[in-house]
Amino acid sequence: ASQEIIKELDRQIKEHKLTGKAKVFKTGCFGFCQQGPIVVVQPDNIFYCRVKKENVKDLVEKHIIGGRVLEELLFKEPDSGELQRRMEDIRFFHNQQRVVLRNCGVINPEDINEYIARDGYAALADILNHRSRAEVIDQVINSVLRGRGGGGFPTGKKWQIAARQEVNPKYIVCNADEGDPGAFMDRSILEGDPHAILEGMSIGAYAVGAEQGYIYVRAEYPIAVDRLEIAIGQARQMGLLGKNILGSGFNFDIDIKLGAGAFVCGEETALLHSCMGARGEPRPRPPYPAQEGLWGKPTVINNVETFANVTVVFQKGWQWFVGRGTAKSSGTKVFSLAGKIKNTGLIEVPMGSTLRSIIFDTGGGIPDGHRYKAVQTGGPSGGCIPEEYLDILVDYDSLAKVGSIMGSGGLIVMDDRDCMVDIARFYVEFAQDESCGRCTPCRVGTKRLLEILQRITKGEGEMEDLRLLEELSQDIKVASLCGLGQTAPNPVLSTLRFFRDEYIAHIRDKH
Ligand code: SF4
Repeated sequence: ASQEIIKELDRQIKEHKLTGKAKVFKTGCFGFCQQGPIVVVQPDNIFYCRVKKENVKDLVEKHIIGGRVLEELLFKEPDSGELQRRMEDIRFFHNQQRVVLRNCGVINPEDINEYIARDGYAALADILNHRSRAEVIDQVINSVLRGRGGGGFPTGKKWQIAARQEVNPKYIVCNADEGDPGAFMDRSILEGDPHAILEGMSIGAYAVGAEQGYIYVRAEYPIAVDRLEIAIGQARQMGLLGKNILGSGFNFDIDIKLGAGAFVCGEETALLHSCMGARGEPRPRPPYPAQEGLWGKPTVINNVETFANVTVVFQKGWQWFVGRGTAKSSGTKVFSLAGKIKNTGLIEVPMGSTLRSIIFDTGGGIPDGHRYKAVQTGGPSGGCIPEEYLDILVDYDSLAKVGSIMGSGGLIVMDDRDCMVDIARFYVEFAQDESCGRCTPCRVGTKRLLEILQRITKGEGEMEDLRLLEELSQDIKVASLCGLGQTAPNPVLSTLRFFRDEYIAHIRDKH
């Protein structure tokens, strides 16, 4: 729909002889998916929502030529009915801090000059001219930046391990294999601000001494792939990738590897195997990829959002970065809000925000008069968090305490119409489908878990099944080889912990 609107805007501008006076700029995502397609008219800064092709004529004639704001296309706050003209006035954006998403919806991602005009590549230039490798790593350690892909491992420490390996060559890999159902954080960053990833990877490569980087991105993200290809081409042309970058003597280039969409390839060792053309299966760690990765050489793997944050750490300084979030989880986090929530979309909030403020202030609460029941954080590997924990702070450690995980940032909200046993069954089915089959606890264990859950949801379960579910879940967590199996039982364990009555109702009432 957005492409049609762009074409129609161009056509109307020509027809009204405004060429040279008005111009259409294509940007990345604003994050307010529920209200798209969005058109912002500058310099008036008017934010129009749910624009259709048939609105474009009015937009040009009445606003651009006539100077009148089209009230029918403004966002209306659901509770107060207030019409909002500017993005910053809309409640959805109030608690957000757009740090990683700072350029999304603002710049044309296909134009390197727009990225540069917003301080892009300034951090890289400064580093290459003025900072030693050790200094760069120290600053990332000081920033307390933790990997945004799910594990939360300190990024600086990972870089330090790779930098200390006395083996060459070294590699740097961006994990853009976003596979959680309902998650689209990485996709939006890649589509909206691809140069931020290239710059973050270049900084990482300089720090660890790598000369080649790869972006492993799923082929189902064709716009992201296109924009990355354009960005890489432009960066090469401007001497920001390739030999002797900015005359510093540092050589670094990036290539794209397309993934076929297997969930397990988000696991770093499976991703490396796939990158090398082998079957995407995890392997035991240690050795960690930072010690032995691609072709047995030290390899740093970070995800898209982590690299986007690296650029910020150096643009703004690590002191600025640790001023956001909590002591152990600094900075912001991008989440995709989905499920039973009024404002679905992509949001960025400081680490340590409460679930309540994310769901009820930013997300606008539960639609159609229904009641909140649970939120699942961390995608299929996360736990379901009930109302009594809505005031916990969203950071790596607090989520772990209630049996969930940060994951890569999927937040799926459920209301009083959702059956939590069905939800657990859905996620176990997903894990079972996506299990690579390499180790028995995951391959067979998730199958058995699924059979028990199917039995219960068909009204054929016994009370004994609850004990079996718990024991089997613990065994799978402990004995599985990789994160997929180790976290697959989380939805079962958390729903058994917080919504046990729903399991009992299925068993007792035989429904
Ligand atoms: Fe494969 Fe599952 Fe074992 Fe991971 S835990 S290696 S996905 S079978």
